[in-house]
Amino acid sequence: MARDLREEIRERIDLVELVSGYVHLERAGSNFKGLCPFHTERTPSFYVSPSLNRFHCFGCGASGDAFTFLMRIEGISFREALQRLAVRAGVELRPESSPYTEPHEQERLRRALFAAHFYYRQCLQRSARARHYLEQRGLTPATIERFQLGYAPNGWDYLLRFLQKHQMTTEDALNAGLIRQGEHGYYDYLRDRIVFPIYDASGRVIAFGGRALGDEEPKYLNTPETPLFEKRNTLYGWHLARSAIVKHASAIVVEGYMDLIMLHQFGFEHAVATLGTAFTEQHAARLRRLVERVYLLYDSDSAGIRAALRAAEVLDTAGIPTYIVELPTGEDPDSLLQKAGVDALQQALEAARPASLFGLEQIVREHMSHAGVERWEALDLPARTRLLNDALRFVARLRSQVEQTACLERLAPLSPAYLTSPQAALEALQRDVRRLQREGRRATGRRASPRAEARSSVPSPAPTEEASEAQQALQTPTLSVQLPRAVIEAERTVLRAIVASETAALALEQLPHIEWSLPEHRALAHTLMQLPQPPYRYAERELLDAMPDEAQQALLTSLMLQTEPPLSLNMVAECIAYLHRRRERARRLQILNELTHSDQPPDPEKWQEYWRLRVES
Ligand SMILES: [Zn+2]
Repeated sequence: MARDLREEIRERIDLVELVSGYVHLERAGSNFKGLCPFHTERTPSFYVSPSLNRFHCFGCGASGDAFTFLMRIEGISFREALQRLAVRAGVELRPESSPYTEPHEQERLRRALFAAHFYYRQCLQRSARARHYLEQRGLTPATIERFQLGYAPNGWDYLLRFLQKHQMTTEDALNAGLIRQGEHGYYDYLRDRIVFPIYDASGRVIAFGGRALGDEEPKYLNTPETPLFEKRNTLYGWHLARSAIVKHASAIVVEGYMDLIMLHQFGFEHAVATLGTAFTEQHAARLRRLVERVYLLYDSDSAGIRAALRAAEVLDTAGIPTYIVELPTGEDPDSLLQKAGVDALQQALEAARPASLFGLEQIVREHMSHAGVERWEALDLPARTRLLNDALRFVARLRSQVEQTACLERLAPLSPAYLTSPQAALEALQRDVRRLQREGRRATGRRASPRAEARSSVPSPAPTEEASEAQQALQTPTLSVQLPRAVIEAERTVLRAIVASETAALALEQLPHIEWSLPEHRALAHTLMQLPQPPYRYAERELLDAMPDEAQQALLTSLMLQTEPPLSLNMVAECIAYLHRRRERARRLQILNELTHSDQPPDPEKWQEYWRLRVES
């Protein structure tokens, strides 16, 4: 199937629109550019070309079509990407011709969840009490609709009987976590609760949360994990929040359904919530591609603060700048918004402090309350030393240099050396932090740097060997350190010239005579020389399709997207001349080397060649 179907789908997908769901794109000539979602950068080097139907990042080398993009940004398999893009493109996948259907079991789970959701929605319509509860909590009908809330009635096995009536088995319901087995038979897991459907990234229901209407415990209950639902991978509200997260380049993270729903209702649509679990690396990896910063909006009690600091550490490891939002005592986002409105929350967001400074403050506060003093100046010397030790260990774990320095500046007055010289105190603290970091690295047995760890936790679609080699070549500086930038640029210019009508003839004629210094340039030139000679102008897409592998496709895409410096016949000719001069100079040096290091009598022919080369250059 693959190639035809893939092409058919690719042709129908608007790549710019697809990418815009994740990356804020701006027009750049006939292309679009934005901040690369696959590596961290401040200035855009990520391009999407509607005419090539491909994307390319000049920063990290990420490159490909709609399939590659979706697989990589969602961390999904080719099969899943195919299914989703087929739906988007309105192309029907014939089940008999492709093995691309979901495993049977998962499909049964989805059916049961779908039916249960339908049932809960119906029950909410019928229950005046449940509707009254939501209304009194301040939820508008539009919000209830947006989050597709439902109600699980107060009975023994109403849901189970509904599912059975609709040709689903007890086993399906059990596997989906909708019912449980007790001493007296099966019973519905959620009873007399408001139901919050939990969705995956594509907006399909994968689980339910339930909130008691009264004061019963537990107040919140989630259906258990299943092959479809993993808490550590799921953020509540994600499918509704994603485009707003891209737009704001930031996300607000809260704990719990009601806070999240209220934030959305009041227009903070870039909010997501964790689901009764700590903030995980997987959560961070998902946000990392889309945001420049994250706001943690947790409860202000001690449990909430601890949870926020743990989340901040995970985010720091993933390299995401994190801010902790503090609300007035006793308020949560829900209550604050309802009492004081949007402005109050907006102000709290603007006043949010970097998590590192917030964390440092917590340590200082703990030590003060332990010693029973109100100001740190009142701590005696041993207490100050203990405080400094704890604080420095905290600072040593921070990834960002800037935040480390900010924290140390805050700590410097605690150091005894500060009175004589603030600068010396700061420097001493910096030395301490470096020492702790060295010790930490030794203790953990040469762990990779946090940055490398953060990188490796990002799912990538198992690139082909050639592709990953090409990416390495783009990333590893070793080659370009030995090779002058000018050589690489000159070679690129000659290769670029192939696709421009004015310069193609000259470049094609010269391809065989150039000694390529980068292996990927040589490989591409080789491919180009094998192609049938066109009337000196290739159609770009045809040329891309003629590439034998992804690495060459990526290189060619980057050449086609490059617009600076503008190509001219003159410039291409100069680049070719430059490459020839370099080649001859290398040859000359080689001959000279041979001649001077040889025990044999000088070979007159070699000398002649050497002099010819000297004169010509
Ligand atoms: Zn990139």
